[in-house]
Amino acid sequence: MIITLEPDAPDSVADAVVQIAERYPGVSARRYEFRGAATTVVEIHLLGTTRAVPTDPFEGLPGVRKVVRVSVKYRLIGRPHPSAETPGFEYNGVHFDDEHVHVFAGLCAVDTRDHVERMLAALRSNGIVTTRMGAYKPRTSPYDFQGLGKSCLPWLFELAGKYGIKVIAMEITDARHLDEIEAALDDAGSPTGVMLQIGTRNTQNFELLKHIGQQQRFPVLFKRGMGITLEESLNACEYVASEGNSNIVFCLRGVKTHLGEPHRNLVDFAHVPVLRRQTRLPICIDPSHSVGRMDVAPDGLPDIFHVVGQGLIAGASMVLVDFHPVPTAALCDGPQALPLTELPRLLRYVEIVRRAFEAATTAA
Ligand code: PEP
Ligand code: MN
Repeated sequence: MIITLEPDAPDSVADAVVQIAERYPGVSARRYEFRGAATTVVEIHLLGTTRAVPTDPFEGLPGVRKVVRVSVKYRLIGRPHPSAETPGFEYNGVHFDDEHVHVFAGLCAVDTRDHVERMLAALRSNGIVTTRMGAYKPRTSPYDFQGLGKSCLPWLFELAGKYGIKVIAMEITDARHLDEIEAALDDAGSPTGVMLQIGTRNTQNFELLKHIGQQQRFPVLFKRGMGITLEESLNACEYVASEGNSNIVFCLRGVKTHLGEPHRNLVDFAHVPVLRRQTRLPICIDPSHSVGRMDVAPDGLPDIFHVVGQGLIAGASMVLVDFHPVPTAALCDGPQALPLTELPRLLRYVEIVRRAFEAATTAA
């Protein structure tokens, strides 16, 4: 059972709810706070044998907005009912919710200072404050470039600050990487922010998920597993929230099957509305790792643009996309990297499709 309080309810309401709940044997109550840009939603979740607990003692309390019996498995990331609030969250001045669209354009892997600087300069001149930059790369072959690791963090963070970047999405593959990022950010005076990315290969690395769930400093970009069901990915994502960090964006990035060929993965953006129905998380799409190549359709738009459109028209609010100033020189995923000249065109395209989504949903 989930008891949602009115936004301005005093703490005494939460206390009263907990007191009533704990009168029932085998029932415990946990308080959760979802901090959005405009409102903070407080919920009390009743756990255990709640079937015998009636709803009316809670419904009768002033300051209680709604009481729902839930059977959702994902009690924290899940959307308990269609009208449930989806407050999103704010991090380093950037709002992550259904209303704000962000393009995280950047290098798949940090390689040289010059490439990073050219990328960041292009973002600044296009008014973008969010990027993706991998320092730790999970590669299929141990002989491929593994990322520069912690050695690049000091200059990467310094450059990000110089170009006004507020959030860098950066994958971590080991708990140690979190300490390295924290230390480097502190040493640099926190000129930027980091969103910790869980890659598709680590979707079910439960110890890593618990570890990043236990910290509150950084939000999490959680990528679906490429070879597991959506339900399994959502259960895995719930691990992060269940440890205390609900500032999560859920990212679709395609699923592994030859049936998607010639694309690298089968694009799964039809799951955007499913995720918006089943969860309260903002939804990201990654067209680069889905499509995996720079083919252009007869209409002049790369396939990567077309799948961006598919995700946005379905309600995604974040796009993670690979760029490189010299795609042929990229040390990781060059074939899917868009050249910087495509950045203004992509941003225009994103705006057009988002406007179409807003018009379509307003008319509906
Ligand atoms: C990435 O975004 O760089 C990446 C490795 O993605 P994925 O985990 O989706 O393959
Ligand atoms: Mn990549």
